[in-house]
Amino acid sequence: MRFTHPTFLFTARVILASLCLAGAARASSWIEEWRASNPVWRGVHVLARSANDAHQVEAVVPALATNGMNVLILEVDFNFAFSAHPEMREGSVLTREDALRLTTVCHQHGVRLIPQFNCLGHQSWAKQTFPLLRLHPEFDETPDKYPQNEGIYCRSWCPQHPRVNALAFSLMDEIAEAFQADAMHIGMDEVFLIASPDCRWCRGHNPAQLFAKSIQDMHRHLVGERHLDLLLWADRLLDSRTMGYGEWESATNGTAAAILQIPRDIILCDWHYETLDKYEGRPKKYGSIDELTGHGFRVWPTGWKTMAAVDALNREGLAHRTNGVLGYLCSTWGAVKLSELPNWPPLVEGFRPWR
Ligand SMILES: [Zn+2]
Repeated sequence: MRFTHPTFLFTARVILASLCLAGAARASSWIEEWRASNPVWRGVHVLARSANDAHQVEAVVPALATNGMNVLILEVDFNFAFSAHPEMREGSVLTREDALRLTTVCHQHGVRLIPQFNCLGHQSWAKQTFPLLRLHPEFDETPDKYPQNEGIYCRSWCPQHPRVNALAFSLMDEIAEAFQADAMHIGMDEVFLIASPDCRWCRGHNPAQLFAKSIQDMHRHLVGERHLDLLLWADRLLDSRTMGYGEWESATNGTAAAILQIPRDIILCDWHYETLDKYEGRPKKYGSIDELTGHGFRVWPTGWKTMAAVDALNREGLAHRTNGVLGYLCSTWGAVKLSELPNWPPLVEGFRPWR
């Protein structure tokens, strides 16, 4: 029989569909079992900026799992071998094979792997503009402004451009599929450029409504159509004036009211890396945990390398553990070699009260 014969093609399609269904069923039963046996989330966030990073992460997953990790957030962004849009690949990329191998190792050790793709903000770093805005300057919230990214922190895409979401969805779909993901972290932190007077679509609009629209769009696709859990950083949903935090870990640019307009099934990663005594008024506690759980969200407090801040954040998190706090997420941001991560004191101490 020729490979193009209709009977062969039909049989092949049936077999392929069965395999896909079997794979999906396996994945869905894996996550159901994971959910049932992991009421507390002890996570690690790492950047995967190359295939080599992915291989190094893979090597330490068993030790990390032994030391308590049950969720791995792997920030991939554009370092992935996209096939629908290969022009969006940046630098050293993870292949589908890398992704599948890492997922397999994680699942073998009871670890849920959640890939991350930064949406809206963080579309550049220092002088480097990432492919989405480099190749589509029409999606830029501040087109033709800030050459070499001088004078800004990071570029943002325009949440109202009629074609930006289709591209972002395609990139995230490929990442989610490659990692067999049941959840996606979409970043959305530190967005300073929004509702810009330089944007023809957004000038004069309310920043909170634009921020909420972007989240709603992502939610509709990732949760509504793809049935993934959705996570994002919480800083733009916190009002600096009521929280007492600075402009990084909370918003001074009018986005905070978006908290009232986004679906409550989103998981908010509330990051705080330093103790609060640096702020005027010296807030006594990380009040955002109370604020965000009070709005009905699941909250995942996230610390970094300062031990006093890790302990203080955990005290506040533990006080709300029956009220929507999931556990503790340890971010790394290059402060520790991956080979030393399993015994890194901020990770060990961060997990201790949640074990
Ligand atoms: Zn815009």
